[in-house]
Amino acid sequence: MLGALDMFGIGIGPSSSHTIGPMKAALDFVNKLKDQGLLMQLNRIEVHLYGSLALTGEGHGTMLAVLNGLCGEHPKTVDPDTFITRVDQIKQIKQLNLGGVVKIKFDYQQDLLIHKEQFLPKHANGMYFVAYINDKQLFAKHYYSIGGGFIADDDSIDNLSANSANDYVIPYPFKTARELFSLCKTNNMTVAQLVFANELVRKEPSEVRNEALEIINTMRQSVQRGITIEGNLPGGLNVRRRAPGLYKKLNNAQIKDSLHDQRLLAMVFAIGVNEENASFSRIVTAPTNGSAGTIPGVLEYYVRYEENVNDDKLIDFILTCGAIGMLYKFGASISAAEVGCQGEIGVACSMAAAGLTAVLNGSLIQVDKAAEIAMEHSLGMTCDPIGGLVQIPCIERNGVAASRAIDIAKLALLENEEGKVSLDDVIKTMMQTGRDMSMHYKETSLGGLAVNVVNC
Ligand code: SF4
Repeated sequence: MLGALDMFGIGIGPSSSHTIGPMKAALDFVNKLKDQGLLMQLNRIEVHLYGSLALTGEGHGTMLAVLNGLCGEHPKTVDPDTFITRVDQIKQIKQLNLGGVVKIKFDYQQDLLIHKEQFLPKHANGMYFVAYINDKQLFAKHYYSIGGGFIADDDSIDNLSANSANDYVIPYPFKTARELFSLCKTNNMTVAQLVFANELVRKEPSEVRNEALEIINTMRQSVQRGITIEGNLPGGLNVRRRAPGLYKKLNNAQIKDSLHDQRLLAMVFAIGVNEENASFSRIVTAPTNGSAGTIPGVLEYYVRYEENVNDDKLIDFILTCGAIGMLYKFGASISAAEVGCQGEIGVACSMAAAGLTAVLNGSLIQVDKAAEIAMEHSLGMTCDPIGGLVQIPCIERNGVAASRAIDIAKLALLENEEGKVSLDDVIKTMMQTGRDMSMHYKETSLGGLAVNVVNC
């Protein structure tokens, strides 16, 4: 069962689909080898990357992620400082510490195979892991990184929504915005109260609160690091980290009192988080890594500049954001390889606008409206990262989305009547638009800014 807090994962940059997903897939493969007692028998592992993972994997750290996963590391707990050095060592000594327990030979050039021309039929982000003893195949498995750090295999990818609903019987099941808001209305609950009640099927109330606060604290820490750490981003584009300088300028100018200035600061908070993300640092997928700055930017704005903020309100904010994210996961996609940047920063903007509206005492209609407006005006947003790096346009786009989410919440709060376009209408439209979009604009770096901006 997918819960509201599952829309957030504490992990490592720079990409949920190209870093976190592949790392989890590699770790899952190793765990399956362990479970079957094969770990001590095999002496070679082969990894195949297909489609979008092959085309932009280098810039997104996919190869680093896969090798860290094979070494038994998890995105939530891996030390960001060892993420790159571990792989440097593997390349150098041609040896890999599988699952952290058994050393096997691994030749980076021969055992990690990149298939740029080939897309697996079930998803654009395909992987194939094979374990051998000498030349005999012991075990092999396909994985798909389906966005937001979620992974699937050949069985589960055909049955995604069924799996998400059937594992537990929850008191308030929903798949669409209409179902979610009708349930809230009938039961006189806020969105946050409803998804909190659903989480209680598998967790204690204190666990739900602690998990939500851990997500919030990790987001706020990433903002703090983002506005502090200076220097250039890795990857070769020579992109300078701008957030610390921008933050200093805005703070020195003492212009924090108007909404305009506060929105500017929210942009800087979001930019700072995505600069952290691009630096392989600790962030929260929200709902993806590429869009990791939007919700923290709005969250930090809320904490600093709105009144009566407390832990309960912060938990309401994050649960409401999560509930809206679930609607996109159920009804469309949060994978840029499937629907472009609509599914990443478009969804993050929709989640953040709804969350902020809720904690500013918005009605159900206003929360629904805020989520809808944010996606209606993100439709068609393409994914065309320069050099396959989650830097340009990704970093600044999070800043713009954070500022828009604040404006949209304020706009939604001015009226309390349903509009002509429903949230379900835009979710459906987003998915159709994504299907119609050329693959050049779906995380392949084969079109848009990725080809028009000269990368010296
Ligand atoms: S352009 Fe958007 S979808 Fe593409 S990598 Fe950047 S943030 Fe992700």
